[in-house]
Amino acid sequence: MTKKGRVFSGARPTGRQHLGNYLGAIKNYVALQDNYDCVYCIVDLHALTTVETTADLKQNTYEMALDWLAAGIRPEETTLFVQSHVPQVTELHTILSMVTPLGKLTDLPTFKEKVRQNEGNINYGLVGYPVLMTADIVLYRSDVVPVGIDQAPHIEFAREIVRSFNYRFQTKALLEPQMKNTEIPKVLGIDGKEKMGKSLNNHIELAATPDETRLRVMQMVTDPQRMKRTDPGNPDICNVFSMHKIFTPAEDVEMINRECRVAGIGCVDCKKRFAENLNKSLDPFRTRRAEIGKNPEDVWDILHEGAKRARVIAEKTMQDVRAAVQLP
Ligand code: SF4
Repeated sequence: MTKKGRVFSGARPTGRQHLGNYLGAIKNYVALQDNYDCVYCIVDLHALTTVETTADLKQNTYEMALDWLAAGIRPEETTLFVQSHVPQVTELHTILSMVTPLGKLTDLPTFKEKVRQNEGNINYGLVGYPVLMTADIVLYRSDVVPVGIDQAPHIEFAREIVRSFNYRFQTKALLEPQMKNTEIPKVLGIDGKEKMGKSLNNHIELAATPDETRLRVMQMVTDPQRMKRTDPGNPDICNVFSMHKIFTPAEDVEMINRECRVAGIGCVDCKKRFAENLNKSLDPFRTRRAEIGKNPEDVWDILHEGAKRARVIAEKTMQDVRAAVQLP
């Protein structure tokens, strides 16, 4: 089948993935493969800007790649690799940094936010983060980048850098990336308040065992106004119900919606049902993960093979860039 173009996306190596990662990104990555030539990158260099220790970097990269593969990334057609395995990205980053005004970088709300979060380590890498991100996108000649509405300014900024470069060197060597607006659902953690994430320990890992998953589900906060079993509940403000809508068959969702409002079903039973459905949905993933994970070297081979393919595209771009800049 003819594909519509090339998609690029990158994510920091955060180790074992959770439901929030799956619903917010991985599920979409898998679907995009049907229509696009996909380039997916585990951005370990980006991670260096904020990590306290690099001791887990390799293991986190491996676990993340394993989860992506088990979830349905097809390495025979998709280029899956690690950012630092393609050194051209750092070369392009350096060159693009020469056409990026410092004031613009330090004015970005994302930079200010990072400064707030990393008070003790405001490093040069943090300032250049959007330039490295731009280098990632344009190095692989991506046509589109799937982003949620809140990430749109990053892509707009990348487009500005590309325009500056092409204008400064009177070239068309770099393509302006286009945004593919993607609805990225905000998945709440088991606390029912904050976005699901490891740092808040409110997550449910995809690779957790069925028992571990059940335990996490039973800790989920429900309708905060429902105090006792006999109180009617409100599914519209209940995070368990939002998850049911994704993992539970439609007729059961309807029943829960109806029965919850008249106290016909209790939260304990409701969560047990959700745990059962979630485990059923995750079973094929777990089986594939166990199968692929039998030989970790296979995962590294896939990443190295992906990097080899990525380097070919990257080198072609860099030849055009070096020629445009007239590097001797
Ligand atoms: Fe939420 Fe289910 Fe409890 Fe209703 S019965 S409040 S949907 S957990």
